[in-house]
Amino acid sequence: MSVRTARYHGEALAESCGFTKPPVDVERVAKQLRLKIAYADLGPDVSGLLISKGDTTAIAIQASDVPNRQRFTIAHEIGHFYLRHQFEPGEHVHVDHGHAITPRNSRSSTGVDLKEIEANQFAACLLMPSKLLLARIKALQARSLRDSHVTLLASEFEVSEQAMTIRLSTLGYL
Ligand SMILES: [Zn+2]
Repeated sequence: MSVRTARYHGEALAESCGFTKPPVDVERVAKQLRLKIAYADLGPDVSGLLISKGDTTAIAIQASDVPNRQRFTIAHEIGHFYLRHQFEPGEHVHVDHGHAITPRNSRSSTGVDLKEIEANQFAACLLMPSKLLLARIKALQARSLRDSHVTLLASEFEVSEQAMTIRLSTLGYL
């Protein structure tokens, strides 16, 4: 597995779900993969859990997080599942703390936790597939993207401005 492969799978999954315009419905993606989602108070500094038991896998999301963050967490957990990051037989719980899924953090940048980087890249591609994003950028008819464009795109895709900024710079637009 590599970060590039993780990105490819995120894009491909969005494509296979047939989304034609933003925002990407991550709950529908989870449903399609037979992943149940529960919203609950997960305690301080926990953003999400991926829980496997036998053949069943479920996602738990921090109920008090803002919706855009919850969407990113769902996409991140889908990433762990889809990229088969945690498939040991029996019971398994993967815990994501707030810092683990904050895009661009010191731990990620040092490459300490490759699976977290892969899940984040997968999530960014699933939530902001290049095809949909490029179409929206084209529609803006701007010579270069300004902060107001980033704000607009972030609200269209229902992601944080930080996540959109990182995605746009990864694609070479910022
Ligand atoms: Zn994670």
